[in-house]
Amino acid sequence: MLIVMKFGGTSVGSAERIAQAADLATSRAAEGHQVVVVTSAMSGVTNLLIDAATAAATGQWDAAVRQKLMVRHQAVADALVADPARRAAALAEVDRRLERFEKLCYGLSMVHELTPRLLDAISGTGEMLTAPLVAAAIAARGRASSAVDATELIVTTDQFGGAEPLMDATRARTSARLGPLLARGEIPVVTGFIGATGDGVLTTLGRGGSDYSGSILGAALDAGEVWIWTDVDGVLTANPGDVPDARTLPEISYSEASELAYYGAKVLHYKTIIPAFRQRIPVRILNSFNPSHPGTRVSVEGDPSVPGVKAVTAIRGVSLIAISGTGMQGIPGIVAKAFDVVADEGANVLMISQASSENNICFVISTKEAPRVVKALQAALEVDLARGHIEEIDSQPVAVVAAVGDRMRGTPGIAATVFGALGSAGINVTAISQGSSERNISMVVAEEDATKAVRALHQAFRLHLAPTAGVSSEH
Ligand code: ADP
Ligand code: ASP
Ligand code: MG
Repeated sequence: MLIVMKFGGTSVGSAERIAQAADLATSRAAEGHQVVVVTSAMSGVTNLLIDAATAAATGQWDAAVRQKLMVRHQAVADALVADPARRAAALAEVDRRLERFEKLCYGLSMVHELTPRLLDAISGTGEMLTAPLVAAAIAARGRASSAVDATELIVTTDQFGGAEPLMDATRARTSARLGPLLARGEIPVVTGFIGATGDGVLTTLGRGGSDYSGSILGAALDAGEVWIWTDVDGVLTANPGDVPDARTLPEISYSEASELAYYGAKVLHYKTIIPAFRQRIPVRILNSFNPSHPGTRVSVEGDPSVPGVKAVTAIRGVSLIAISGTGMQGIPGIVAKAFDVVADEGANVLMISQASSENNICFVISTKEAPRVVKALQAALEVDLARGHIEEIDSQPVAVVAAVGDRMRGTPGIAATVFGALGSAGINVTAISQGSSERNISMVVAEEDATKAVRALHQAFRLHLAPTAGVSSEH
C-alpha cells in the first residue's frame, strides 16, 4: 500500500523527534509499503519567519535570525547524519534556503512593503529547511530518500496565504516526479504547507496547511491511506488543552472530521479532508509521541453506533458582526447587500444567524477581517443607515462553540441539553445556528467563556466516557 505520512511541527521539532519520524517512515517501508513523507517546519519556525518578515517590513531586520535558524537545523544534522558528505550536502541545502530568506528580508527592509506574495515566499521557508534533514535522517537509516519541494508538485491558484490546489495539474506533476522514486523503493520527503502557481511562484496553503498538503498528495498519488502524525492520540472529544479528560474518537466520518476541523479542532487543517474524501482515501490521525496508540481513523461510515454529540470544539479569534434596526423588517435586499460586501472583502463567514423578527442579522468572521468588513458595510449600507432602516452595525470579539456528531440528527433533546448545560454554567449565548445537516449546533459566546462552555458541554454529553452504553446526554 502507498502511505502518505505527514509529520507536524512538534513531530519534527528536534533531532530526537526527527529520528523518531525517520524510524516511523522506514519501518513501514520495511514492511513493504511505499511511503511518501510530508514534513512541516520545525515547531515555532513558521512563526519566527513571519515575525522576521513583519519586523523587516518596518525596517527592523534582525540579522541574528538567520544564524539562529542555522544553529537549530545544524544541531539536527550533527545528531542524525553521521556520514560527512551526506551531512554537508543537507546543510548546504539548508544554507541556500536561508540565504534566499535573508535576501528577501533584506529587500523588504528596503521597500517596507510586505505583500501576501512576499509573505508566502518567506513563511514557506521553514518546510524547505526541514525536508533535507528528514531525508538525510531516513537515508542514514539505509533507505534511499531525497527532499522534494512541493513547488514542483502542487500547482495552486494565486490566492497567497490560502492557495487552492489545481488537482489535474498537481496529479500529473506529482506522479511524474514521485512515481519513479517510489518505484525504486525510495522515500521522498516533500515540503508541506507550500505549492506554486502554474508560473512557479511560491504559494502557501494557509496556516496549519501541511495536513492539507498530505491529503492533496495522497489524492494525487491515489494513496491507500494518509497518516497525519501529530502530538495527541488522534482526534479527541475536545481539545485536551481545554478538557483534560477528553477521549480519543477511534473512528469518525469524513463529514465529522471536516466539521470538527472547520469549527476549531486545530488537529486537522480545515480543508484536509476534502481531497481524501473525494477519493475515499482513509485518513488516520496518530501520535508520534505514542505511536502504538491506534489514534483516529476517518472513513465514510465513521462510527454510526455512537448517537448524538461526539465532540465539542471552539473557535477563538473571531468577531460577531451584527446589523440591526427595527426598520430592517420588510426592506428587501439588505441581507443580500450585506453578504455581497462580505464576499467582496474576501472574508470567510463561519456562521450566520438571523432573528425571526428580521430586526437583526449577525454573522461571525475572523477578528482580523472585522474592522475592514464593518467599514465596507457602513459604506454600502449608508442609505439604509441614513433612512433609519438600520440603526447599528456593530462588531464584538466572541468565540464560537460547536457540538458535532453525525447522529445528532434523529437524536432528540440535544438542544435542550446544550442550553441546559450552558445555562447552569452561567454562560450567555448571543446567537445560535444549526447546520441543516443537523451534524452541528454552534453557539456564539463571550470570548472569555469559551473554555467554560466547552467543558460544560463535554460534561453534559458525558463525552469523557466510552459511548458503549449509548448514553447521549444526561437529560
Ligand atoms: P501539528 O504540529 O502536528 O500539525 P497542531 O498543533 O496543528 O499539530 O494540532 C495538534 C493540536 O490540536 C493538539 O496538540 C491539540 O492541542 C489541538 N486540538 C484542538 N482540538 C483538538 C481535538 N478535538 N482533538 C485533538 N487535538 C485537538
Ligand atoms: N508550518 C506551517 C504552519 O506553522 C504549516 C503546518 O505546520 O502545518 O502554519
Ligand atoms: Mg497542524
